[in-house]
Amino acid sequence: MSKQVLIAGAGVGGLAAAVASARAGWQPRVFEQAGSFTEAGAGIQLGPNATRLLEAWGLGPALEQVAAFPLRLAVRSAGSGEVLAQLPLGPSALERYGAPYATLHRADLHRLLLGGAQAAGAELLVDARIDRARETADGVLVSLAGAAQEIEGDALVGADGLWSSVRQQFWADGAPAPTGHLAYRALLAQRDLPAHLRSDEVAVWLGPRLHVVTYPVHRGEWLNVVAIVHGSATGDLQPWDLAAAGADLQQALGVTCTTLQDLVRAAPAWRLWVLHARPPLQGGQAMARGRVALVGDAAHPMRPYLAQGAGMAIEDAQELGRCLAMAADQIADVPTVLRRYALNRWERCARVQRQAERNGRIFHATGPVQWGRDLSLRLLGERLLDQPWLYR
Ligand SMILES: Cc1cc2nc3c(=O)[nH]c(=O)nc-3n(C[C@H](O)[C@H](O)[C@H](O)COP(=O)(O)OP(=O)(O)OC[C@H]3O[C@@H](n4cnc5c(N)ncnc54)[C@H](O)[C@@H]3O)c2cc1C
Repeated sequence: MSKQVLIAGAGVGGLAAAVASARAGWQPRVFEQAGSFTEAGAGIQLGPNATRLLEAWGLGPALEQVAAFPLRLAVRSAGSGEVLAQLPLGPSALERYGAPYATLHRADLHRLLLGGAQAAGAELLVDARIDRARETADGVLVSLAGAAQEIEGDALVGADGLWSSVRQQFWADGAPAPTGHLAYRALLAQRDLPAHLRSDEVAVWLGPRLHVVTYPVHRGEWLNVVAIVHGSATGDLQPWDLAAAGADLQQALGVTCTTLQDLVRAAPAWRLWVLHARPPLQGGQAMARGRVALVGDAAHPMRPYLAQGAGMAIEDAQELGRCLAMAADQIADVPTVLRRYALNRWERCARVQRQAERNGRIFHATGPVQWGRDLSLRLLGERLLDQPWLYR
């Protein structure tokens, strides 16, 4: 009989872990607390490091059907709209890295992974919140909310996101901290926009204490806009999708170029994320212990300024599958392969967490630092923007 991996959460990380562990010869059982397998709106960028894995899992054709493949990344001044630097993407990314740079609607990515998990034979349950979990001498036991019986497996994967309860039960290291940044996001139908607002590029608009990212999603039919500003929100901070007002955003952005102002006005609705993060991982013990492992935001929540949170979750899943295969083949026991998974992943994830934090400081620079940044971007352009260590 195949070994069973119990997976808490059916976000990008949980579904990717289901695909990879099924490919490794395990039987995945995914438990999702929500009543249906859905993902909130807005967009997501996936670098070649992540799309390469989707292709390896046979999901390349599905990706091609729903994604956009922008031709360039342009860094612009939020004040003037001027292009400070650019990096060719499209065929150029494909040539450099052997896989595309894609931008997607989150729901499209989610559906694509869900299809992959179903096709791989994963068992998927909704309305199934994992409340408690414990390790026994030769397995794991989880209890679902409202159910008396425990469910047994050979390993438990916490893919339950930023507020991971698996992490709290096994690591008990407190809650993630607010970063002091707010993310406003909106989706705009490109066909309804005047020509000067339509776009087929990834654009990052830099201003003092703010940046705005725009890119096409859903085959280019929609434009995703994310504006990051400094600020805090009160009340229940856990939902990452609070209703937000465009007027608040306009005030937070202050004086920007007319294109950005027009975009803010053109959006039919804004939603708000209160951004949280944890410090970079310090070692493998933070990602696995015994028969329990963490993937994605449960393990390494990060600021979204390198656009790699979901990318790292997909990479985690691939490495988890590679290591689980050793236990399926009886080469090593489950705790050993999970330890190996964590040792192989933590340093890269920590580097991405650090780089994302650094990007935030650079993007939001003011005064002489901002001046130096813009000069470097103009002089070094592509050399500053390309990230071979990450995409390769
Ligand atoms: C503004 C913003 C922009 C971003 N842009 C990008 C980008 O361009 N590219 C990129 O790669 N990343 C980006 N990210 C990061 C990315 O969204 C996350 O890293 C990614 O969604 C994490 O996936 P996950 O599966 O680990 O967690 P989640 O997506 O949070 O999924 C966790 C799942 O677990 C479920 N769950 C929770 N607790 C339980 C429980 N006890 N039992 C059962 N189920 C449970 C939840 O309902 C949820 O479905 C961005 C993030 C933000 C905030």
